[in-house]
Amino acid sequence: MNYASHVNKVKSFILDYSKKTDISELLNNPLSELKETAYYLFDELITITPPIFFQEPHPIVELFKLIEQSLSPNLKVEKALLEHLETWWVEWHFVATMNAKLLNEHNDPQQKYLIAHTHHPMRNHELSHYAKLFTVLPMPICNVCVETGDILKVNQRYIDVFGFTINDTPNVDIWWEKAYPDIDKRNAARALWNASLAQAESNKGDIPANDYQITCKNGEQVIMQVSGINIGNEFLVVFNDATERIKAHEILSEMAFLDSLTKIANRRRFDEKIVDEFSRVKLANCQLSLIIIDIDNFKKFNDRHGHIAGDKCLYAVAQKLADTVSRPEDFVARYGGEEFVVLLPQTDKQGALFVAEQIQKAIEMLAIVHEDSFTGYLSVSMGINTVNHHQCDDHLTFIQAADDALYYAKNQGRNCIALSPGK
Ligand code: GH3
Ligand code: MG
Ligand code: MG
Repeated sequence: MNYASHVNKVKSFILDYSKKTDISELLNNPLSELKETAYYLFDELITITPPIFFQEPHPIVELFKLIEQSLSPNLKVEKALLEHLETWWVEWHFVATMNAKLLNEHNDPQQKYLIAHTHHPMRNHELSHYAKLFTVLPMPICNVCVETGDILKVNQRYIDVFGFTINDTPNVDIWWEKAYPDIDKRNAARALWNASLAQAESNKGDIPANDYQITCKNGEQVIMQVSGINIGNEFLVVFNDATERIKAHEILSEMAFLDSLTKIANRRRFDEKIVDEFSRVKLANCQLSLIIIDIDNFKKFNDRHGHIAGDKCLYAVAQKLADTVSRPEDFVARYGGEEFVVLLPQTDKQGALFVAEQIQKAIEMLAIVHEDSFTGYLSVSMGINTVNHHQCDDHLTFIQAADDALYYAKNQGRNCIALSPGK
């Protein structure tokens, strides 16, 4: 493009307006006559002939660089005018490009006529607000070409959140590689996205929302609810930050499964967990062990030391159990009152007995004085039961057998471990 005459026209426009006294007010008023006149000048100088795709360098940016070079570096008002003008013109150029594309897509002559004649220049000026919305909306947005998968435009928030510029992610293939470095996770997420796109076809172009865990340029992970709309041969993708929502949900469900006094899992969590673990035993050739733990003579401890000391004691015992049972797949919960349970997946009777002995020692180490106990210190009794996939009828019978073993341990004089005889 030969810009010489363009440069002169825009420059004289700037110099004319720079003489006005209320320039900053004019610049800040989106309905000012300055903005309107700037639009007419834009309309006169920039003709968009379809099809126009994204050009590098951007013609408007290129033009304004030339104008800037021709202005004196000390003219502050002129610079401010130039900056505003450039921002508006880039927006208008974007809208004009979109219109040109729409015009090109409508092959019906009647439609074509309507679009061409209803888009008065000032209507385009209004449309620039929408272009501006795209730019300033507080969520990441990008525009993708359906045919080529090219990412045509991203807004500032997209760059701020993901750290990717349009050059980092020029098309969807590269986007998937960067946002999902792990190939298995990428394939799973891409399958979900493709299914959503297929749904959009039968749903007026609406791409249904789903959560995606996206890796940003700096390696951080964000969870985004991604949805969008298919418009002709492009789709607009909108990302809503779901990190806070999911975190809040996790906290809530954690709270629902946490015992408030001892800060370990509660009975409700155990009831769920035992069903899961039990069905795993049925499927796989493995064993599952359960230890039920009951504090000895705890009623007397409460009677002598008071309920508050009793509560502190329960907390100390629970935390000690959690520390002692350390494999990630093991599970500790408060079963009720002064009773606790330990679930040990893939653990046979001998393994469970070993863990129970470790627990006994750990409680001994706490050295909580308990005058009404046989040893003079707080102790526990434990009942153990183990199942394998040949002999697992139902989880309630499994728990009952561990409880029976505990009862046996109590009868042996407390501070004892008993194994269920099994079938
Ligand atoms: P055993 O050796 O047979 O288990 O005797 P025990 O006294 O421990 O058993 P019992 O079932 O008779 O009493 C359990 C006591 O545990 C009753 C109550 O005082 C105490 N307890 C249960 N829940 C809590 C609690 O949340 N806080 C406190 N401080 N004490 C509790
Ligand atoms: Mg009890
Ligand atoms: Mg007890």
